[in-house]
This record gives sequence, C-alpha cells and structure tokens, in this order.
Amino acid sequence: MRRKLVSANWKMNGSRAANAAWLAEFDGRDLACDVVVCAPYVYLPQVIEGLRGGETGAQNLSAEAPGAFTGEIAGEMLLDLGCRWAIVGHSERRAFYGESNDVIAAKAARAIGLGLRPIVCVGETLAEREAGRTQAVIDAQLDAVLARCTPTQLLAGAVAYEPVWAIGTGKTASPAQVQEVHAAIRARLARVNGAAAAQLRLLYGGSVKPANAFELFTQPDVDGGLIGGASLQARDFRAICETACEAAR
Ligand code: PEP
Repeated sequence: MRRKLVSANWKMNGSRAANAAWLAEFDGRDLACDVVVCAPYVYLPQVIEGLRGGETGAQNLSAEAPGAFTGEIAGEMLLDLGCRWAIVGHSERRAFYGESNDVIAAKAARAIGLGLRPIVCVGETLAEREAGRTQAVIDAQLDAVLARCTPTQLLAGAVAYEPVWAIGTGKTASPAQVQEVHAAIRARLARVNGAAAAQLRLLYGGSVKPANAFELFTQPDVDGGLIGGASLQARDFRAICETACEAAR
C-alpha cells in the first residue's frame, strides 16, 4: 500500500505575515499521510521553522552545482536550510521559463544525487490533449527523466500528473481521465522496473479542492495531490490532507 502524499505549491505567493498566519493555523501532526509544503525560496526558513507535521519543499532548483550562476539556487543550499523536497518541471517552469524535458531531467537527477526528493511534474496542454497526443507528450517527458534516473531512484520523491489545462483554471480532470493517465505512467515505468513502478507515488494536480479531492484520491493509481490555489488557505489544505487520509482507508 502506498502512503498518500499531499504537497502544497504556494507558487509565487506569500508574505512573512500571511505565512505566519498559515503556519499558526495548519497542524498536520495527527495526519496519517505525508505532507509537504513547497514555498518560495525566500520563505523556506520560515516554513521549515514553523511547519508542524510535514516537510518543506522548494518549487525549483538549479541543474548546476554551486558556482557562477547568478540568481540561481543550488540543491546544496536547499539541503543546507533543511529543505527536503523540490518540485521539478512544473508546467509554469516549462511554459514561462523554457525548461526543456532534458533540463528538467537534469534537475531531477541532480536533486536525487544530493538526497533531495523531487516531485517531477508531467502533463499535456489542452491542444496536445485535443490532438490525441496526451500519452506521447507524457511519455517523452518521462523518458527524458528515465534517461538520467532509475525508477528506484525516483522512489525517493514522486511523479505528479498535472494537465496544463487544469492548473489554476478551475477545470479538474475527471477521475477517469486522471486514472487513465496515472495507469499509463505506471505502466511506462514498469517497463523499466515493475517493482519500483508499483511503489512510486503518483500525485494528481490541477484545481484540486476539498470538494473534489475524495473522488480523485480514491482512484487506484492516485497516491495524493499537488495542490496550488487551494493550498493558500490552511483550512482548505488541511481538508484536502484529511481527505487523502480518508481515501486511504
Ligand atoms: C499547481 O500549481 O501545481 C496546481 C496544481 O495548481 P492549482 O491547484 O491551482 O490548479
């Protein structure tokens, strides 16, 4: 049985005051699922210090070792702070910052090499889905990662299926659509290593809310969620975490 994992992605949101209020309200110590909060870099120390019942993640990391890369953040620095996780290849990084499948794979490999747990994001755009290319796009994203990391290494982290058309849009993929893609992701990984594929946690992300989390998290290949907008409210995030625990029963 794979333990459920729910990760918040605060994206480029927050302030010291708003984060303090969130951390005062959220308490995950009694939850029977794993919780990660991915905060903007500058707020990681505040979250690491104040988070009760969970681990902290970054939303990105550099593919490079420390050195002359102005404005970048190395995985070593994240670990030095006490950050344990990093989102890799979020669709906003792919779309707005031109991160290719290969760059994302290099980031995932670098995170794993350092002992930082990657949440590797994959997903298709609406145009790609409508053109019947969902699986081909995801296969290419996964294959780039598998060229540099084994499925066993990925077990340290998770893979998140985030259809681009469902992120921040209020349009959630249907449970059947999500299950179909998750099963295909697991099958792809199983071609390399069946045992690792069976254990790897596959998260769904895209407009997950307290009201729709249960039907998503009870799909057989859905092991939790990556939560954007709804994670900004501690109460909603807590409700989604509770739903993940309930779905595992
Ligand atoms: C995300 O940012 O990864 C995400 C899934 O966002 P939202 O939940 O707002 O769709």
